[in-house]
Amino acid sequence: MIGFMALVAILATALAGQMYSFSCPHCGYKDDVISGGVMVRGMISGACGTCRKLVTITWDWKKDKAPEPYETIWDAGSGRTLKVFKCPQCKGPFVEIEDPKTDLRFCPRCHKSLPKVEMGPIVD
Ligand SMILES: [Zn+2]
Ligand SMILES: [Zn+2]
Repeated sequence: MIGFMALVAILATALAGQMYSFSCPHCGYKDDVISGGVMVRGMISGACGTCRKLVTITWDWKKDKAPEPYETIWDAGSGRTLKVFKCPQCKGPFVEIEDPKTDLRFCPRCHKSLPKVEMGPIVD
């Protein structure tokens, strides 16, 4: 019974995942942002300030547990608790993007603000 409930929770989370295609009008940087996860893969995306790009941690729902945040920080600007994970490439910290529409306001590559949301969902 507990196993069944856990499975339902995992499926609900996986299906709630969203994918956005991101493109910067200033420098032309393009990438995909995934929040939540897609199908059997859990995904956490964020913008790494050291790599100057969007990075994603992925794991298999069936085999692995979701990675624990390296750190959590309460942000007075948004009132939310931000989760900090380690960048898979440089091992530096990055903050999870929960909702690309509100959490991605500046280009990770050129650090210019995005004049309008240059993103659209590419997966329902
Ligand atoms: Zn990095
Ligand atoms: Zn840019």
